[in-house]
Amino acid sequence: MARYVFITGGVVSSLGKGLASAALGALLQARGYTVRLRKLDPYLNVDPGTMSPFEHGEVFVTDDGAETDLDLGHYERFTGVSARRTDSVSSGRIYSNVLEKERRGDYLGKTIQVIPHVTNEIKDFIGIGDDEVDFMLCEIGGTVGDIEGLPFFEAIRQFAQERPRGECIFMHLTLVPYISASGELKTKPTQHSVKELRAIGIAPDVLLLRSDRAVPEKEREKIALFCNVRPDAVIAAPDLKTIYEAPLAYHREGLDRAVLDAFQISPAPRPNLDRWTDVMDRMENAEGEVRVAIVGKYTQLEDAYKSIAEALTHGGMANRTRVKAEWIDAEIFEQEDPAAYLEPYDAILVPGGFGERGTEGKIKAAQFAREKGVPYLGICLGMQMAVIEAARDLAGVADAGSEEFDHEAGKRRFTPVVYHLKEWVQGNRMVERKVSDDKGGTMRLGAYTAVLAEGSRVAQIYGATSIEERHRHRYEVDLKYRDKLETCGLKFSGMSPDGRLPEIVEIPEHPWFIGVQFHPELKSKPFAPHPLFADFVRAAVEASRLV
Ligand code: GLN
Repeated sequence: MARYVFITGGVVSSLGKGLASAALGALLQARGYTVRLRKLDPYLNVDPGTMSPFEHGEVFVTDDGAETDLDLGHYERFTGVSARRTDSVSSGRIYSNVLEKERRGDYLGKTIQVIPHVTNEIKDFIGIGDDEVDFMLCEIGGTVGDIEGLPFFEAIRQFAQERPRGECIFMHLTLVPYISASGELKTKPTQHSVKELRAIGIAPDVLLLRSDRAVPEKEREKIALFCNVRPDAVIAAPDLKTIYEAPLAYHREGLDRAVLDAFQISPAPRPNLDRWTDVMDRMENAEGEVRVAIVGKYTQLEDAYKSIAEALTHGGMANRTRVKAEWIDAEIFEQEDPAAYLEPYDAILVPGGFGERGTEGKIKAAQFAREKGVPYLGICLGMQMAVIEAARDLAGVADAGSEEFDHEAGKRRFTPVVYHLKEWVQGNRMVERKVSDDKGGTMRLGAYTAVLAEGSRVAQIYGATSIEERHRHRYEVDLKYRDKLETCGLKFSGMSPDGRLPEIVEIPEHPWFIGVQFHPELKSKPFAPHPLFADFVRAAVEASRLV
């Protein structure tokens, strides 16, 4: 049976609970334990798949095809453990399961209530895969006191109560604000937050204090006293220069020690933190800098492309260089010449996206990169745009476009070089879709194999001819145009195993021009940078030297 750490937050949201959970996972691994991290989100959407990236940030896709919260990305980046569908749940999913059971008659005519039906559903979810790891870390989204969160707090309280004593602990993250007028750090919000938690029956074992500066011992002792938490389990978590410092910084403050103490594990296995000292060494001792333009749509909210930003940082680590990623709104290029904007950059990345807005600008960015020999990485929509650009400009399909933008029946504006995929093979089964399908969870999602052409640039970069990458898209490049495009220099260098779906395109004559139908950024780790990002940054470094 696993031991459970429940991670909750108080005072304000956005304190970095996800990161703290991920860093704790990494520290437990460093002491030789196996871990799994899990996120329980109180919102009513069934999953974040249909939420706007502006609202909720990136949708993180797992190997098994679940569309999940971006915190699962942090979990994977810090622990290397691939998340699963059963590692992310929302109130929406819980309620829809309960209601489905009610309709099926599973509850045998009982009145369905939050306690016990909803809380039981949550507890069942928490316990999935209980015998697989040493530690299960469950983060509850939102802050204590939120109305939506109550069933989750109640469920974890019950869960801990039903387990043998000492197998579950509670870690609570709070904010310790600095009031500049009085020059003081304030402990009162933490006291109130813990009071709120205790009122619903949860007594925290470990407190993690987020603040913009060091929290002196005096304040920590005061919090320990007022919140009834042992002084050495009140851990300071001041702001860090980079998120990847978190494992080492939290270790220095004694987080992993406090957690193991709370489980009464003694003596604790000695930690091996080499992985994280190496990551920090690569960050701190980087030389030079390359500038990468990310030409996208969701540019106002950095979280919308979280994994891409992180994967670029990892690519920098692989090359011991700093990567400065700058976001440019693709729509600008629909009015203005991209050259004026893109010339200062060493490489261009066009990320994934949905809908027509900004796509003509992305096509212009791809054209600029192709014509000027600037390294180009097109991801998902970014690949589709590169193919459309080549079809228009090289292969003579002047009105090439994507079916995604041609909604009105009988009024086609484009020749669909990218079409709506309605059936494909997943493993050994056929998947089918209709235009009228629900929007949620119906894309081509999760890990699929791609076969890479011998001798291609991508085969060389991966050092393999069979790869697995994660997908999240509804549209696909039409194979019909392969011969035409290949004659013009755009090679289809990665295909689905049945040879029907183009997975990768590249221009061998170009210094570095690659489009991928999948999302490589989702699998990159600081201690194992994704080969495509590592090589893309290498190409950017080379390009910067040429200037
Ligand atoms: N909108 C495109 C599709 O559905 C691309 C999706 C993406 O970039 N993730 O195929």
